Amino acid sequence: MERILVSTISGREYPFEQVEEFSEDGESLEVRLAGLETAKIRPGLRLWERFADFLPFRRMDADLSLGEGNTPLLPAGDRLRACAGDVNLLLKNETQNPTWSFKDRGSLTCMFLARELGEDTVATISTGNMGHSVAAYAARAGLRAVVFLPSFAPAEKISAMAMHGAEILKVDAPDYAQMKNAILGLAGRLGLRIVSGNGPIRVEGYKLTAFEMFEQMNGQVPDYIAVPTSACGHIRGLFKGYRELHTAGLIDRLPRMIVVQVRNNSPLVTAIKQGLSRVVPFTHVHTVAEAITSGNPAGGEEILDKARRYDWLAEDVTEEEILEAQREFARAGFFLEPSTATLLPAVRKLVGAGRINPASTVVLMLTGAGLKDLGALQHQPPGRVLDTDIDRVEADLCRLLRPSGS
Ligand SMILES: *Cc1c(COP(=O)(O)O)cnc(C)c1O
Repeated sequence: MERILVSTISGREYPFEQVEEFSEDGESLEVRLAGLETAKIRPGLRLWERFADFLPFRRMDADLSLGEGNTPLLPAGDRLRACAGDVNLLLKNETQNPTWSFKDRGSLTCMFLARELGEDTVATISTGNMGHSVAAYAARAGLRAVVFLPSFAPAEKISAMAMHGAEILKVDAPDYAQMKNAILGLAGRLGLRIVSGNGPIRVEGYKLTAFEMFEQMNGQVPDYIAVPTSACGHIRGLFKGYRELHTAGLIDRLPRMIVVQVRNNSPLVTAIKQGLSRVVPFTHVHTVAEAITSGNPAGGEEILDKARRYDWLAEDVTEEEILEAQREFARAGFFLEPSTATLLPAVRKLVGAGRINPASTVVLMLTGAGLKDLGALQHQPPGRVLDTDIDRVEADLCRLLRPSGS
């Protein structure tokens, strides 16, 4: 199997096994595998077995899996459809992964590689979800995990990684992008594989989500896929999956991606809307959506390039819109992180502006679960809790159940 890394911008080639995840100019790298034109879907119990022709790993041991994937793709239902505008709205619920975010799919492929190369440590930089996921998968694989965190990472996620036994370094820095670049620079110097949210190996795991949706939709392709975007790994993995299905002749068109960011931190959306080819850096970001705070994502130029070439959409949303959408999702049965809640107002605005045709099928990628960031709920109105006691409970209940207005 011939496998290399190539720069997504210049096309320069790099060794597959190298520890650096970006080119020396900061371009994102991706795996290129020979023979995709004739790749076939194989029989197999697991997704990565059925799509083995599309994957660059020489070993894919089932004992490294925590049972990620196989997440439901559901119709959004009337309430959320009414919020989004009248499109065929589907929800891909990635919060049902082992550590309650889509990050698990990429952590699995990182472990495939670590096992293949005989590495004993995996390191990562994270606002929380990736650190949690890598910590869990490293524990499963019997490897040491090192997690670099920014000072604003939520306590729930830190406790979780600590429980899995990760070494945690909370790094004080003026902003997250600066911290990330400094730590990534350590990788080459120390020969330590520090996986970021946008590394080529992680992206191979996110590709599997596209394959899974291809199966769930019986080979159909959605018109749009909306993705809350930060480091950019998820959106490019999803799109790479569809591109490779196209190369293999299994689909005849590509979905259009919708890049969603928060207004206070929209380095990609701002650039796409203004037709720029460089990311517009944001510093000192304040947002309730702490999982999407890369203010200057490494390799982000690839996304701008793809947005231009493939006619992607981009939208940003305000803090108020995020909190309102988090309540709307919850009232429809889905308890999500604020970063995920961004999707609903973004799609609503694009439908309202006539950028999305009402007959379209739009998939929202539900990236992370609400319980992972309880701190964010301090911005929500307090829940309705009635304090009562055993003597008054019946009367209180009767009052509660009485039809309103009577
Ligand atoms: C990581 C993350 C994102 C952003 O994904 P990227 O691959 O960094 O673009 C979105 N939502 C949640 C919940 C996340 O954990």
